Amino acid sequence: MKQIAFVSGKGGTGKSTLVSSLCQLVADKMVADCDVEAPNLHLLITGEELNKADYYGAKEAVKDAAKCRKCGLCYDACRFAAISDEYEIISLNCEGCGACALVCPAEAISLEEVKTGQTYLTKTLQGTFSHALLDIGAEGSGKLVTEVRRKIFTSHEQEKWLLIDGSPGIGCVVIASITGTDAVVIVTEPTKSGVSDLERVLAAARHFQIPSFVCINKYDLNPEMAAQIEEYCRQHDCPVIGRIPFDQKVVKALQAGKTPVEAGNIQVTREIEKLWQRLTAALGA
Ligand code: SF4
Ligand code: SF4
Repeated sequence: MKQIAFVSGKGGTGKSTLVSSLCQLVADKMVADCDVEAPNLHLLITGEELNKADYYGAKEAVKDAAKCRKCGLCYDACRFAAISDEYEIISLNCEGCGACALVCPAEAISLEEVKTGQTYLTKTLQGTFSHALLDIGAEGSGKLVTEVRRKIFTSHEQEKWLLIDGSPGIGCVVIASITGTDAVVIVTEPTKSGVSDLERVLAAARHFQIPSFVCINKYDLNPEMAAQIEEYCRQHDCPVIGRIPFDQKVVKALQAGKTPVEAGNIQVTREIEKLWQRLTAALGA
């Protein structure tokens, strides 16, 4: 199986629209939405829920008040201001480091698992689909991304492809999205921030020595900037495999909960087909 991660330096570049379209066009695949903070692929590909589970991705200190001797050692040990003057745990500040539990002479503090999100596995007409939703204010989004990728292999049926809708940015969620993949497709837009975001994401992918490709979405909205991106990619030996034009009908299709492919946007569909052909040719698949 070849794993392809579609990423971008920021949200809103059209990454999920591209992945959801490929879901309609590519056979023999599974799909994972690793944008756990703001997932939206599940709005476009639906099906029968196979599994839904709470995910416990963090730890938090809990005090047994009956055992506490008010010695204050936990207060001194905590580096996150998560223990009050009365030696109560301030759970919002707690990082789950465990220092307080280590120093407590009364064994009054223990670490408990905290729910940080929910995972979903769905059987769709486009293949098995894994996604998750991070709880509001929860930490550990990188771990949840890893869980989304782990979970999809629990229903592994020897598919040829895994399409990953990666998280935007360059933080730990992106690293969790792209680690171990066979290729990264960076989706960008012809704007100034698009260029600088592309540079940062490409640097992250290069750091992990993952073959990288670029897709310029809405390239015709700013041909000059699109040309700058092409030149940057040429200089950095990063093939541009997709140039998707802007089409107002795509916006309407998305508003109706349809991918451009489902809505019959022929020009956009053709460009996405070409992107896939170029990608598979480059990967020798
Ligand atoms: S270290 Fe233990 S005994 Fe001392 S104040 Fe903290 S919880 Fe209470
Ligand atoms: S687990 Fe760490 S962060 Fe949380 S209260 Fe204890 S020392 Fe502070």
